[in-house]
Amino acid sequence: MTTYELDNERIFRGDLLLVNASHPLRAACDRDLRPAFPRWPKMLLRRPAALAVRQTLERIGAGDLIVPVSAYRAPSEQKSLYAAALRKHGEDYTRKYVALPGCSEHESGLAVDLALNVKRIDPICPGFPYDGICGEFRTEAVKNGLIERYPEGKEGVTGIAHEPWHFRYVGWPHAGFITENGLAFEDYIGLLQSDTEPGKPLVTKDRKSGIVNEVFHVPADGGKVTRLTLPDNAVYQFSGDNDEGFIVTLWRREA
Ligand SMILES: [Zn+2]
Repeated sequence: MTTYELDNERIFRGDLLLVNASHPLRAACDRDLRPAFPRWPKMLLRRPAALAVRQTLERIGAGDLIVPVSAYRAPSEQKSLYAAALRKHGEDYTRKYVALPGCSEHESGLAVDLALNVKRIDPICPGFPYDGICGEFRTEAVKNGLIERYPEGKEGVTGIAHEPWHFRYVGWPHAGFITENGLAFEDYIGLLQSDTEPGKPLVTKDRKSGIVNEVFHVPADGGKVTRLTLPDNAVYQFSGDNDEGFIVTLWRREA
């Protein structure tokens, strides 16, 4: 067994941060940003998200058929984007499609808006259909840890309108579980918080590889650190939930 000490400041950092109107970003996310698209050097994402997007596009041979519309936004950019949308489109439209400053996944460096490359691309609501090359992107994206973050029918949960173009990196196995079960990311984090704990994980198995994933939530201790003692037979990854604690993901071989 090994005891891990997680700094409670890390609740606000990681790949599984829940970011929405009631969960603003609390830590700066401008570290570890890199270009996600060879031809658009200014479109930056955090490393795992950049790799996932790049790998997905390469696997499906997207070429120039899919283009980025928006990736990482500095907090000041989100502010001016929100203000500009308000001026141009009014409050109803802006609240539906543009996240409040401080509450946008684009400020986390884990989200990207993509468009089918057509002559006129709408900068707020780009076209990204469910068929053709964009459909292929969706299928491959999940395997690389990306989810469609604002699905149809989940507007009441996410607080954002259906956005077929907005993808969020959450990693594996989370993307697979969320997509297969038709969840919003809010549903998933809520499920982990209420139904899992150390010793009572959400378990998924990959039959092909024999890899077992376990995912569970750990509420943060009151002090500066949260201590967690875990068996040595697995690989662990920790992420804050941007709410009340940590999500532990482990990989092990089926016994
Ligand atoms: Zn977006």
